[in-house]
Amino acid sequence: VADHVTKFEAVSGKRVAVVGAGVSGLAAAYKLKSRGLNVTVFEADGRAGGKLTSVMHNDLIWDEGANTMTEAEPEVGSLLDDLGIRDKQQFPISQKKRYIVRNGVPVMLPTNPIELVTSPVLSTQSKIQILLEPFLWKKNDSSSKVSDASAEESVSGFFQRHFGQEVVDYLIDPFVGGTSAADPDSLSMKHSFPDLWNVEKSFGSIIVGAIRTKLAAKGGKSGETKSSPGTKRGLRGSFSFKGGMQILPDMLCKSLSHDEINLDSKVLSLSYNSGSRQENWSLSCVSHNETQRKNLHYDAVVMTAPLCNVKEMKVMKGGQPFLLNFLPEINYMPLSVLITTFTKEKVKRPLEGFGVLIPSKEQKHGFKTLGTLFSSMMFPDRCPSDLHLYTTFIGGSRNQELAKASTDELKQVVTSDLQRLLGVEGEPVSVNHYYWRKAFPLYDRSYGSVMEAIDKMEKDLPGFFYAGNHRGGLSVGKSIASGCKAADLVISYLESCSNDKKPDE
Ligand code: FAD
Repeated sequence: VADHVTKFEAVSGKRVAVVGAGVSGLAAAYKLKSRGLNVTVFEADGRAGGKLTSVMHNDLIWDEGANTMTEAEPEVGSLLDDLGIRDKQQFPISQKKRYIVRNGVPVMLPTNPIELVTSPVLSTQSKIQILLEPFLWKKNDSSSKVSDASAEESVSGFFQRHFGQEVVDYLIDPFVGGTSAADPDSLSMKHSFPDLWNVEKSFGSIIVGAIRTKLAAKGGKSGETKSSPGTKRGLRGSFSFKGGMQILPDMLCKSLSHDEINLDSKVLSLSYNSGSRQENWSLSCVSHNETQRKNLHYDAVVMTAPLCNVKEMKVMKGGQPFLLNFLPEINYMPLSVLITTFTKEKVKRPLEGFGVLIPSKEQKHGFKTLGTLFSSMMFPDRCPSDLHLYTTFIGGSRNQELAKASTDELKQVVTSDLQRLLGVEGEPVSVNHYYWRKAFPLYDRSYGSVMEAIDKMEKDLPGFFYAGNHRGGLSVGKSIASGCKAADLVISYLESCSNDKKPDE
């Protein structure tokens, strides 16, 4: 206890700047504040939340960014508990009902191996290939010989080796399209699915690895402790909040005082000077109309702005420019989100459940969208009871140009796809459109060089920590975990600084 108290005292009151008020930055700030540190968040935008943004308008509630999240990462459960917002969680109705388009029609995805046997989503040959994967999977010859970044295996290559091309085309392609707006040929397996990548390293077969991991987890259950309720909650799948995803950043902001969060404060430059003992970092920021410029001092910095924004910042170290030209250019996926409502009587074949994803192969049937969430089927309070509310995604690597199209053009595209999928008739009652020019960073096959550059920034700049969805995963949960990890690293760093100082104090 004494050691803990000393450590607490060592970092308590230290000043930490957090750049970016997306979910990763806010989670980092929350954790730092709860450990007694003095945090200040800087957000370029006039609102907090980043890619979490909900709108309430005309009796409708919709999300323009992330629609749901999961509790797969333990940091998420702890955050929800600490914030006391369990009562605000909203679980979708029939969330296990998820659809993939096959031969032009939505087909429900199997949720267990027995359903897979009877499901029309895959041919008999692919089903046999899945069952025989422990014996038939092929090794990745190239990765064993070449270890440089350019040789990283693609997501399609990996799943092709284990389950065959049809699984890539009808399960993996729509999944990565729906979760990262990317395509399986471009994505790096190692960076997009690190857990499965490691399963192969340990077990070879994915099926064997999955079974053994599940058995090990079950075996561990006998020794369950207080962490088990969180684990059980994690099994409840995807969720949102009453009022939309924005509730999470709103509640995180509420835990910060007015002085601790600076909106409309774009960080322009950072400077590190090792000479002084404390507050080695100075940071300058500006509001969008440039009326206010601030120059402030900190002991450490948690950077969560997207790397394309970091690249634009001026960084100094010991009075000399610290050039960020070693940061590689990142490809970002553009995406349009269309929120439409239709009167219930105009939807002839409504589907209950989470939503539908459209494999690229199905574009031959005239589909142009990536997929649609059945938002008001999941959350009936999101619109008046005589309407259905749908959230449709267009663009990504599959159709980068279409992502930029006008609202009118996209309305036609979405109406046409929903007509084929759900039998909608006529025009939508309402249309809302949000365009994300850089919705997701593409974890492509050279993403290893991005990770190396992030490591280099942290190594060369003492007290600088990078977190967010450019590192370790794109999901809301992974972004939160990344922010929490950065907060832990800041605390360890500041503790070590105070230990270094002690002898000559
Ligand atoms: P961001 O949310 O991007 O936050 C970074 C912040 O930094 C921004 O607020 C930005 O304004 C700020 N910033 C930038 N430059 C500066 C600067 N110079 N100074 C100060 N501030 C700066 N994930 C899921 O788990 N489930 C989903 O259903 C889901 N759906 C999605 C749908 C869409 C359309 C999109 C775009 C994303 C979706 N995601 C989903 C992904 C997830 O929302 C994001 O990966 C996650 O929210 C990223 O959080 P972050 O804090 O890392 O980054």
